Amino acid sequence: MESQFDILIIGAGVVGACIAWELSHYRISTAMVEREVDVSFWTSKANSGIIHVGFHASPGTLKARLVVEGNRQFDRLSEELEFPFERRGELVVAFSEEEVRVLQNLYLSGTKNNVQHLGLLGRERTLEMEPSLNPDLLGALYAPTAGIVGPDEYCFALVENAAANGVELFLGERVVWSATARTSPRPRCWRRHQEGACHPGRPEVCMQGRRTGRAVCRPVPERFRY
Ligand SMILES: Cc1cc2nc3c(=O)[nH]c(=O)nc-3n(C[C@H](O)[C@H](O)[C@H](O)COP(=O)(O)OP(=O)(O)OC[C@H]3O[C@@H](n4cnc5c(N)ncnc54)[C@H](O)[C@@H]3O)c2cc1C
Repeated sequence: MESQFDILIIGAGVVGACIAWELSHYRISTAMVEREVDVSFWTSKANSGIIHVGFHASPGTLKARLVVEGNRQFDRLSEELEFPFERRGELVVAFSEEEVRVLQNLYLSGTKNNVQHLGLLGRERTLEMEPSLNPDLLGALYAPTAGIVGPDEYCFALVENAAANGVELFLGERVVWSATARTSPRPRCWRRHQEGACHPGRPEVCMQGRRTGRAVCRPVPERFRY
């Protein structure tokens, strides 16, 4: 069976999920193709889930503007799409004079990028806020608007809403270009996974697709915990 769409999104990581959600507000036909058994099964489900505030981005860049604007949208987004999100704030801690200077530069970048409520804290105030930190610290950069999100839940929420709005999702399909791609640039999709394909003896994680119920086992990085 052949289908035609106005737009094809390759990959249901967080970037594809955001694009699908945004496009689902428009009257266009969109398909999203993911080679894994479910949404966000690569980097996007195994990251730290930090919603950064924007002090790392170089001032004046598009990235700086988008990080700051994106951070501000998360209260509304998490309420609307019902995924877990908390603004717990972030402390970046310095243990030497050199590191203190790094924090001062980050503070300056953050201020130029319009990051709200940034503060440079001394040793006592930092330990008062977080008594379990190493007491050898000299100070910290405090960013109260930093947040933490359930990264996979965020992707699922975006895609489920996009799908409810008409985006068609194809899981376990891989987009490939043939050798004649230059003359025929239309991507094709191949079904790839077999149910429960496991490789005993290798350090692998088995995952089951929430939407499809299909399983796959492979080395997958686990999310850091902060
Ligand atoms: C250890 C670690 C911690 C991180 N912590 C944070 C953090 O705290 N905060 C933060 O904002 N960022 C963090 N990041 C970065 C963040 O995770 C990535 O920037 C983000 O996940 C990239 O999303 P993506 O959609 O571009 O890629 P991916 O999540 O990799 O998605 C791409 C998808 O495309 C699919 N795909 C690829 N080729 C094809 C094909 N031919 N056909 C069909 N499907 C295909 C893949 O299967 C995959 O699912 C971290 C990254 C790492 C590694």
